[in-house]
Amino acid sequence: MPGFEFFGEEERKHVSDVLDVGVLFRYGFDGQRNGNWKVKEFESKLCEITDSKHALLTSSGTTALSAAIAACGIGAEDEVIVPPFTFVATIEGVLAAGAVPIFAEIDNTLCLDPSKLENFVTERTKAVIVVHMCGAMAHIQEIREFCDKRGIILIEDACQAFGGTYHGKYLGTFGNIGCYSFDAVKLVTCGEGGGIVTNSQDLYLRADAYHDHGHDHIGNDRGLEKHEFIGHNFRASELNAAIGLAQLGKLHEMVAIQRKNKQAIYDGISEIQGIEMRNIPDEEGDSATFVSFMLPNEDTARKAAAELKTAGVDGAFFWYDNNWHYIRKWDHIKKLNSMARLPHRLYPNLPDYENISLPQSDSIMSRTISMQIKLGWSAEDLEIRINQMKEVLSNL
Ligand SMILES: *Cc1c(COP(=O)(O)O)cnc(C)c1O
Repeated sequence: MPGFEFFGEEERKHVSDVLDVGVLFRYGFDGQRNGNWKVKEFESKLCEITDSKHALLTSSGTTALSAAIAACGIGAEDEVIVPPFTFVATIEGVLAAGAVPIFAEIDNTLCLDPSKLENFVTERTKAVIVVHMCGAMAHIQEIREFCDKRGIILIEDACQAFGGTYHGKYLGTFGNIGCYSFDAVKLVTCGEGGGIVTNSQDLYLRADAYHDHGHDHIGNDRGLEKHEFIGHNFRASELNAAIGLAQLGKLHEMVAIQRKNKQAIYDGISEIQGIEMRNIPDEEGDSATFVSFMLPNEDTARKAAAELKTAGVDGAFFWYDNNWHYIRKWDHIKKLNSMARLPHRLYPNLPDYENISLPQSDSIMSRTISMQIKLGWSAEDLEIRINQMKEVLSNL
């Protein structure tokens, strides 16, 4: 997955451009910057790639989510439906807005189950944040339809799925607003960075102002800008954008390599008895940062992960035992009501996350293993890996 495997002259060239003129700020310094607008250039390229009307580069995927949530007018006591399998940043974004995360079930796409959403809706439900986990998509069409019918805002956390598509349309462009991460370990990296895409001018202008202290960015005199609300500093720097710009140019090549590597592993293991491959609604649109599969039960899955490791096959994740990505091990969320929770004091009566019950999600996550796909594997590396995986998975 990581784009840092693919650094080269292009990144150096864009970074040198920035250092040569000495302007790291994304706004102003028109004369000094000698035509270098790396953040703006990144944003127009992001629009072009995703076929979106507006794009904003921010300092991280987390701040992209926060700005998107703020732009949608989500705030104190609103409920936002989220999946229990994600990176905790999704949940932090909701809490930082003073809103309440409501965890709903996932299905075997490893993303929110559209057929179960109804069970989690109340009169306070303001939005759904769908997370396209591990490079591939949710049943996004069904989720879009569900939200449309109910008048609920749809936000896409496509932080792990930049480059993925559903029937040719980019993940992140199905919701009212979509977010990407360009952090140090994502497919396209800026070092740190995040992106917002939307076709709504209104949402774009609000996110744009919110990410820079509420400044409206109208006119050429920064000191005379107006403010309709306060915001934060979630700005991206020219240096981060410079790296990202070079990386964007390599997106299609990187995705193509991942798809080829993933296909080889898929072909190697999918016929093994007891292995069920992850359900991907449009297999061709998978950005292929991971290949994920389910074992028959929790014990076998845990054993498979351990034996892959012993056999020297790195990059296999058993999410159920992982502290970062599944609710079962999120001590900071589970104890949210009892632990010091600076700065999230806005809303005192959060649900009892400690005793939350999501049997369908548990049943899926306790059987799922994901293998990270690398760009740098040689044909030989890949062959050895597939043989080792076959050996382990056929003899559990
Ligand atoms: C990486 C990630 C984020 C946060 O992105 P950062 O750029 O690291 O802040 C949010 N959601 C998901 C699903 C992620 O994987």
